[in-house]
Amino acid sequence: NFISAVVPPDEIGVKFDDIGALEDVKRTLNELVSLPMRRPELFSHGNLLRPCKGILLFGPPGTGKTLLAKALATEAGANFISITGSTLTSKWFGDAEKLTKALFSFASRLAPVIIFVDEVDSLLGARGGAFEHEATRRMRNEFMAAWDGLRSKDSQRILILAATNRPFDLDDAVIRRLPRRIYVDLPDGENRMKILRIFLSQENLEPGFRYDELANATEGYSGSDLKNLCIAAAYRPVQELLEEEKKKGVTGTAPSLRPLKLDDFIQAKSKVGASVAYDATSMN
Ligand code: ATP
Repeated sequence: NFISAVVPPDEIGVKFDDIGALEDVKRTLNELVSLPMRRPELFSHGNLLRPCKGILLFGPPGTGKTLLAKALATEAGANFISITGSTLTSKWFGDAEKLTKALFSFASRLAPVIIFVDEVDSLLGARGGAFEHEATRRMRNEFMAAWDGLRSKDSQRILILAATNRPFDLDDAVIRRLPRRIYVDLPDGENRMKILRIFLSQENLEPGFRYDELANATEGYSGSDLKNLCIAAAYRPVQELLEEEKKKGVTGTAPSLRPLKLDDFIQAKSKVGASVAYDATSMN
């Protein structure tokens, strides 16, 4: 199957509240998508308020674009179809027309639906000149034709939500079809703190745990890096307990793990660093 996931809204399991920071992005997506999908009758009069057919989320890896797409489907009460550009083009060379038609007719039946196209640059990247594979070109053209061909009734309830780390690689024709482009940025200190609070809400932390110091110590970390750092830090008390048991020659004592300290996170930084050096200015 070339679709990587199809999930009904009540089974997605991610809501906007599970995403730390990105408040403006969440608000914009709510206005552009959730409201029109939940209340299409409010958007069917006149010409000014038109539901948006295509949105591009762009920004560094690990900043929560996939998470936002899933949570948006929950908030909008829409089914969620996910496809990945690179898998599509590599695995399905030659079947462009059939697959694209199947995808869009499937989506029409499932509406309201959000079609999430991750790594959209691989599927709909700039024309590759003489060396571009014929199948890639056909896939892109078929996809755009099917997208344009959505009947207006369907277009209110089918949204293409695309994500990329490489917006500058996108074809102009694709950019035009994604009239709303939303930058999903790396979190600043304040926002790192919000994200950390979500990840650590269920953990046993030392009293007075200094979230602010941890946020200051993680400049440049994406949400995904922060998650990996928290996992590495949470492992340290476990490791200590195992070493203690080994020293004493006992195993499986009723384990009582010590609370996590700020220092666990600082030490874990040597294992999990900031993964991206991203220059947003190159994306204009
Ligand atoms: P890529 O461009 O590499 O596909 P992405 O922007 O789609 O990355 P996600 O896959 O959404 O990033 O994020 C990876 C993981 O990082 C998520 O599953 C989540 O655990 C965590 N994460 C990232 N940003 C946030 C955030 N703002 N709040 C909570 N968790 C986050």
